[in-house]
Amino acid sequence: MAGRKAYDVVIVGAGAAGLACALEAARGGARVLVVEKDHRLGGALHLSGGHLSAAGTTRQRARGITDSVQAHREDVVRISRGTARMDLVDVVTEHAPSTLTWLERGGFACAPETPRIVYGHEPYGTARTVYGVDGGLSILAVLEAELAAVREAHELEVWTDAPVTELLTDSDGRVVGVEAQRRGAEVRAHARHVVLATGGYGAAPELFEELEGSTLVSAATRTATGDGLYLGRAVGAGVQGRGTHLPTFGGLPDPVTPGRASWEERQLLTAERAPWEIYVDRAGRRWVAEDEASIDEKERALTRVPDLTFWTVFDDAALSVATGPAQLIVGREPDEIRSMANRRAGVHCADTLTDLAVAAGIEAAGLVATVDRYNAAVRAGGDPDFGRTHLPAPLARAPYYAIRNHAITLVTFQGLDIDAECRVRGEDALVIDGLYAVGEVIGAGATCGNSFCSGMLLTPALTLGRLLGARLAA
Ligand SMILES: Cc1cc2nc3c(=O)[nH]c(=O)nc-3n(C[C@H](O)[C@H](O)[C@H](O)COP(=O)(O)OP(=O)(O)OC[C@H]3O[C@@H](n4cnc5c(N)ncnc54)[C@H](O)[C@@H]3O)c2cc1C
Repeated sequence: MAGRKAYDVVIVGAGAAGLACALEAARGGARVLVVEKDHRLGGALHLSGGHLSAAGTTRQRARGITDSVQAHREDVVRISRGTARMDLVDVVTEHAPSTLTWLERGGFACAPETPRIVYGHEPYGTARTVYGVDGGLSILAVLEAELAAVREAHELEVWTDAPVTELLTDSDGRVVGVEAQRRGAEVRAHARHVVLATGGYGAAPELFEELEGSTLVSAATRTATGDGLYLGRAVGAGVQGRGTHLPTFGGLPDPVTPGRASWEERQLLTAERAPWEIYVDRAGRRWVAEDEASIDEKERALTRVPDLTFWTVFDDAALSVATGPAQLIVGREPDEIRSMANRRAGVHCADTLTDLAVAAGIEAAGLVATVDRYNAAVRAGGDPDFGRTHLPAPLARAPYYAIRNHAITLVTFQGLDIDAECRVRGEDALVIDGLYAVGEVIGAGATCGNSFCSGMLLTPALTLGRLLGARLAA
């Protein structure tokens, strides 16, 4: 065993939550060690949209937007249908404005169009989502700059390429440190407080299957391997958020890696454009009104589709109008989709619906019958099956296209059970001394419930992280 060093606080994971916690703990005078398994800091911030939500902010007031912590809280209750942990939501919504100020003091600049209502998730009633021009990277830039400054003046050490493999406990079951792999050796670091900030399990197919009972198709960060859950459960931690998982609408299959989906090649949501296409399942059946404005309703409907897999089916007339803000796939003009057809995995094109179905793996008779019925609905001006009202044209001009989409996991919903002070609780609901958790390792279900609330993963990660860091230093 190489090395054996003592700290006040050891933080496992250097994403948004771990870094916010480390900065505040070190500023408060604690001797802090951050242990990160990756070669770089930031975790999911490298992919994240970086949306934050905070109510009653100076920036809102300056733009004449009336908002309050209470209204933010009520929106979370409405969108999550009351399934989030309100003790945690209360802490986060109350302190979210000061988290934004905290970032701004470090140089964070909100994109000029924000605060705004974002429609990628079920919308808030008020413009309260902000982000930087570079999404998650705008936040990471601030955290890294702060880290450099704090390391100059305080006791803050960072190890990278050092996966934590075990939590150390004493004879009373108190967590007293971690064991990590570092530079080819096993290293132990002892501390009064150990914080798990390891992110979710969106890149851990086995754990995903165990917790959610379904196969993982993921566009989550590759570092989200569920380590915090494994480490926590090994010392008796309880798990919260069962039954809250909700997939994100659709992404194309990754062309190379099975089980991965491409977040860059996602559909432009129909809250942002009127659809000309239909969605069918493997049997060729429609399953939702494609023009349903609520993304939440569509995500819920998608959870009932076999294999969580569906195809957008359209004809060349529909493709020709899918341009600019009406693009079918984000960033892809019609000719780009034409050139992807039958070359890129999941994008198919054929002169007849039957040939299309065979190429795509859809039941041909089902697809032909569905398109006939849809075309009849267009002619009649009403959709008796799902009540779709945007019925611009029949699907009748060859060639026909089918794009395979899968419900995707960007974030994961179950996580370590904590109390309102971020102390990890055991399966018996009692606090495990010395162990804390912040960020996605507590599960998206904690602050979003069975829904997506704009900014309610990163805002909690930063807010609970910095509050915990300050508490641990005190
Ligand atoms: C595409 C995408 C877009 C998103 N957009 C938004 C958004 O706009 N708004 C929002 O609120 N949320 C969003 N999210 C979610 C949000 O970004 C994440 O939930 C959040 O960044 C997680 O932060 P974290 O610090 O908890 O975990 P992470 O960022 O995952 O960091 C955890 C860190 O722990 C490290 N680690 C893991 N195991 C170990 C171990 N054993 N030893 C040492 N280190 C370890 C990892 O390498 C990683 O660096 C998005 C997610 C994705 C994937």
